[in-house]
Amino acid sequence: MKPATLFIHAGAHPDPSTGAIMTPIYQTSTYVQEAPGVNKGFEYARSQNPTRFALEEAFALIEKGKFALAFSSGVAATDAVIKLLEPGDEVICGNDMYGGTYRLFTKIFEKFGIRFHYVNMQEVENIAHYINDKTKLIWLETPTNPLMNITDIAAVAALAKGKNILVAVDNTFASPYLQNPLELGADIVMHSATKYLSGHSDVIQGALMMNDKDLRDKLYFIQKSCGAVPGPMDCFLVLRGIKTLHVRMQRHCENGRIIAHYLRQHPKVGKVFWPGFEDHPNHLIAKKQMLDFGGMISFELKDDSADNVRRVLSSTHLFSLAESLGGVESLINHPASMTHASIPREERIKNGLSDSLIRLSVGIEDADDLIEDLAKAIG
Ligand SMILES: *Cc1c(COP(=O)(O)O)cnc(C)c1O
Repeated sequence: MKPATLFIHAGAHPDPSTGAIMTPIYQTSTYVQEAPGVNKGFEYARSQNPTRFALEEAFALIEKGKFALAFSSGVAATDAVIKLLEPGDEVICGNDMYGGTYRLFTKIFEKFGIRFHYVNMQEVENIAHYINDKTKLIWLETPTNPLMNITDIAAVAALAKGKNILVAVDNTFASPYLQNPLELGADIVMHSATKYLSGHSDVIQGALMMNDKDLRDKLYFIQKSCGAVPGPMDCFLVLRGIKTLHVRMQRHCENGRIIAHYLRQHPKVGKVFWPGFEDHPNHLIAKKQMLDFGGMISFELKDDSADNVRRVLSSTHLFSLAESLGGVESLINHPASMTHASIPREERIKNGLSDSLIRLSVGIEDADDLIEDLAKAIG
């Protein structure tokens, strides 16, 4: 099935009792049983909910996986993956990733004896260097947030193969429309469904997709034991969002391309980070593993004084100054003080995330209006 058809029909079955074309919101905590242990496969909503199950079916299909689980947030999904590990296990992860993932690893899991190695994942050899018999997981994000670096997913999967190391990919920035890591050999895909999957900035939710039944069962056990499940209303919203993912992504990519080129020729703009540029250091890998380059762009201003950066961030009107991304409306963000403030400054600077970096989530408005807004703000 082609993506446009898949995104609309994934997980959608007419409701058996009424024929309702949209999955009902089963707003219930429990299910009546005929006799002890005699039920319709639904006992308690932390473990089973029909709206959530419909969404999980859709999640699996759109990531070309066999199984999926929906979580109450993206970080809850990441949390469940790390809970597969034991004290003493080691994880290799990127040195340029979502600030909340870094916080979860350093502030929550290190104290339980799990060791994290933060490496530059643009070169696969850097990962190979840290692999030993304690390595149980490679966690990667591509494109990275906010520097738009690209990691070769197939090369990392090949490196881990046969070594009993799971490869998990945070695919939030690309969305399943642009990139399908399971097809490239990853074991787990994670999404913050809060972003492109929902697409309308109205819900917090996470997802995990996988092919291995045993892995799915372990993660389901963690999900039900720890309880980070999404409510049925939120599942309904994400199901609805997925129906338009392909058309939204096409426009995000179109607008992203226009804005990236506009910024690049602007005399007051310095470096522009977007994997679609032919001279982006990982452009060829991006081209190989992604359908297009998305709507996320970061840039620096030539006048990178704190005052000027602040002025530009506060001067846009269509681009709203806010954390998050992937909604239909455009957002502007200052990673150093907002999304990535939980990473110590020295770490950030060392990894190339300057105090003056500005990140855009380019929405699906008219590109001319977006450019006019940026032109006025940059001045
Ligand atoms: C937002 C985000 C997360 C965390 O997801 P939440 O839904 O906010 O918990 C993880 N990874 C990336 C790349 C994100 O953008």
